[in-house]
Amino acid sequence: MSFPLTKLTLGELCELVRRGEIKASEVIEAYLNNIKEKDPEIRAFITITEDEARKRAKIVDDKEKKGKLAGAPIAIKDNILTKGIRTTCASRILENYIPPYNATVVERLLAEDAIIVGKTNLDEFAMGSSTENSAFFPTRNPYDLNRVPGGSSGGSAAAVAAQEAVASLGSDTGGSIRQPAAFCGLVGLKPTYGRVSRYGLVAFASSLDQIGPLTRSVEDAALLMEVIAGYDPRDSTSVNIPVPPYTEALKMPPNGLKIGYLREEKIKEVAPEIKSAYFNLLSFLDKEGLTLKAVDLKLWDYALPCYYIIAPSEASSNLARYDGVRYGFRYPGENNLKGMYSLTRTTGFGAEVKRRILLGTFALSAGYYEAYYGRARLVRRLLTQEFRQTFESVDVILTPTTPELPFPFGAKADPIVMYLSDYFTVAVNLAGLPAISVPIGLTQEKNLPLGLQIIAPPFEEIRLFRLAFFIEKKVKS
Ligand code: GLN
Repeated sequence: MSFPLTKLTLGELCELVRRGEIKASEVIEAYLNNIKEKDPEIRAFITITEDEARKRAKIVDDKEKKGKLAGAPIAIKDNILTKGIRTTCASRILENYIPPYNATVVERLLAEDAIIVGKTNLDEFAMGSSTENSAFFPTRNPYDLNRVPGGSSGGSAAAVAAQEAVASLGSDTGGSIRQPAAFCGLVGLKPTYGRVSRYGLVAFASSLDQIGPLTRSVEDAALLMEVIAGYDPRDSTSVNIPVPPYTEALKMPPNGLKIGYLREEKIKEVAPEIKSAYFNLLSFLDKEGLTLKAVDLKLWDYALPCYYIIAPSEASSNLARYDGVRYGFRYPGENNLKGMYSLTRTTGFGAEVKRRILLGTFALSAGYYEAYYGRARLVRRLLTQEFRQTFESVDVILTPTTPELPFPFGAKADPIVMYLSDYFTVAVNLAGLPAISVPIGLTQEKNLPLGLQIIAPPFEEIRLFRLAFFIEKKVKS
């Protein structure tokens, strides 16, 4: 083959495997080689499933009728359950946890003959924006090894950007797919709440969590969504609406889409390179004849404080199950029950997870409940209404994905400063909307990736794909 296999997109790769022009085993060897070569430095993976991947590749090669994702080496964020494969959530408390079943998304990937190459690093329990909160090690950004890959799905993003997997799955509670996608020059999609099954996703904040793809192209994201999306009776929040053929729809030009954008004053604190890329893109869309309209979104600034009450509250309840009895790690040699709980959780959880549990427990406690959680719920409803009204006059809303460029390790040691990284992403989760981050080039000076976020009304992922595909073509040309 005259080109490196590992440079092909998911769509191109699977097509060649399905036509029998290359073998799944060849693909897997090429990727395993890349992992061996690059991962000691990048550290995208917590677990590399080399033997299983080779075995699966043989099975796929022997099949006469191959699935849609035949031979595709996929990396899975390590908070998504994989049967028989350690799933740690990058936490000491689950360090040796081996799930007895697969998440629905994993089942669906395997049914289409995808091959799992490993489990990727994340901020512990998906809490963070840099992957520095992993209990094991940080992951590096393939564009600049001194910078973070974003988070919490930093391992999933770095793996695809460093060609250690052709695509990956992440989870997004407040931006954890879109922000690392933006930091690593990838496409990242957070689907509508209920579009993709959460069965087998370790819960962080159940009313916000969604699984979604991180890919090298918009088409790849559409392809993966066709496989992972759809009703699942095992997730009670899964919605029973048919999955449209995303890969066909994305080729429809975005003509006629009315585009909402944020005024300059809304993004005054954004990095200058991101701001100018954003406004340049808007003027390109304007020249292409699309209708642009400034949107107000007055409640946008309340999304971050609202999120940082709701998400920790749900987390404090979800993480109560790690008590040393039911799962994973138990502090050894302690006979007293209360003492065992306490020592297990004190040693098993890292600082950020403890901070969230404390915040959430406080916000939910009698006497403070109405003042914090109650208020946050109210704000969430108003924010959702505001989006609904805004979508009466525009079809999509464009924002930068992040306020800043990929930052150096240790740059955001203050948790509040780290929380500000989620300025553009959390509102989308609070309102349950779908949003995509699409690369819009590199900075001139340092060659760091820039990302644009497109937001649509519930179950209108097609609009995201159409516009993102159009923008991708312009950026690549
Ligand atoms: N960075 C946000 C947080 O720390 C979002 C995390 C996520 O989406 N999982 O909560």
